[in-house]
Amino acid sequence: MDVSARIEAVYAQIVRRNSGEAEFHQAAREVLQNLGPVLSAHPEYLEARIVERLCEPERQVIFRVPWVDDHGVVQVNRGFRVEFNSALGPYKGGLRFHPSVNLGIVKFLGFEQIFKNALTGLAIGGGKGGADFDPKGRSQAEIMRFCQSFMTELHRHLGEHTDIPAGDIGVGGREIGYLFGQYKRLTNRFEAGVLTGKGLGWGGSHARTEATGYGTVHFAQEMLRTRGQDLADRRVVVSGSGNVAVYAIEKVHALGGRVVACSDSGGYVVDDDGIDLELLKEIKENRRARLSAYAEVRPTATHSVRGSVFDVPCDIALPCATQNELDDQHAVALVKNGTLAVAEGANMPCTPAAVEILREAGVLFGPGKAANAGGVATSALEMRQNASRDSWPFERTASALATVMSDVHTLCRTTADRFGDPDDYALGANAAGFLRVAEAMDAHGVI
Ligand code: NDP
Repeated sequence: MDVSARIEAVYAQIVRRNSGEAEFHQAAREVLQNLGPVLSAHPEYLEARIVERLCEPERQVIFRVPWVDDHGVVQVNRGFRVEFNSALGPYKGGLRFHPSVNLGIVKFLGFEQIFKNALTGLAIGGGKGGADFDPKGRSQAEIMRFCQSFMTELHRHLGEHTDIPAGDIGVGGREIGYLFGQYKRLTNRFEAGVLTGKGLGWGGSHARTEATGYGTVHFAQEMLRTRGQDLADRRVVVSGSGNVAVYAIEKVHALGGRVVACSDSGGYVVDDDGIDLELLKEIKENRRARLSAYAEVRPTATHSVRGSVFDVPCDIALPCATQNELDDQHAVALVKNGTLAVAEGANMPCTPAAVEILREAGVLFGPGKAANAGGVATSALEMRQNASRDSWPFERTASALATVMSDVHTLCRTTADRFGDPDDYALGANAAGFLRVAEAMDAHGVI
């Protein structure tokens, strides 16, 4: 069987075995379509059936999460942890709390995580988890009880050398605190390295909160530099207004660019004077309010529920909210508006059709598994600090993050050049991530 027939057979098997898991199929297809030249150069990985093994998670855990709400009513949610691949290190990847979470979403995220973590060059395998719990409108006490119940089951699968979760959509510093507290109570151990994204006073790392957003902007800047350009004076559009979006906005402003629009699930704001970050943080982080509140107090801003944040003319677009939020129509609008680069702060925010349109139009495209790798890279630095019982100053961690992002960018370009076109960052990311994992899997034998 030739290489492309083998890849098609693997994809058909994925669809058959994981029926209804559309996002996982999409993420797998996106990687597989780049593996042809890599496998032709490495027939030993074909023979060892590395791709077949890589596409099947090592372990998947699904569990009941019962808890009592503020009215005394018993609620039941479903929790997940997919331990996808441990060839390079313990499973590492975030937890997502959102009503849309299901096994297919967790598997797509876990699969992406394998390659992302490999690209950082750090010793971390890939995993992901979460629950179909909706934190919106829940009291602090309800969030705490939910986190405690979730960890009561999950803790038996975790450990600083086994599986180390972090945050994702709906899971920030507050939730990590409750999860860590319950793990500590159940195990009677202060095992700092079991979760990342912790508070600074109890084992967290400086710059972890900022890392994903900052890293995405570093990556965008590196892409622009290959064309002799940079972020200074550029108009930038960011989707989302959560952890990744807020710190992407902060870094764009620090580098002299101007973010003129951002969004949440209820619409988007346009502010030609540049998004006021302190106001945005006050509304989204402190008050946990809707983004529409921003336009109510900011005279230069308008809030809209029609169209999309990607319709706002910009030089750079940073999708930082969720999967498949930027589709072919949005890509056409970006191209028409002369956008130079798109870097994915979120995981798989661009649909395959959108990526195709951007690439054909010559728009620089940084895929999430490379462009948002700064978050997990800094989590690995947090683990390093926990292991040595050390705490690095902000500048040391932030500078290590900048170096990792520059290295990931270089690795993507050189690998893409080896197998095709140096501007094809998706090819570079998929091929480089795959090669690092495949080499380790092959060395470990058939397991
Ligand atoms: P947050 O929960 O902090 O923020 C998510 C933002 O996206 C919010 O503004 C939210 O709006 C919006 N959003 C979420 N779901 C939807 C939806 N279905 N439609 C429209 N808007 C939506 O999450 P993060 O910032 O941590 O994560 C954002 C993305 O970045 C995710 O794809 C995540 O996987 C990825 N990522 C995160 C990392 C991290 O370190 N946190 C690391 C690498 C990737 P609203 O407030 O209205 O819900």
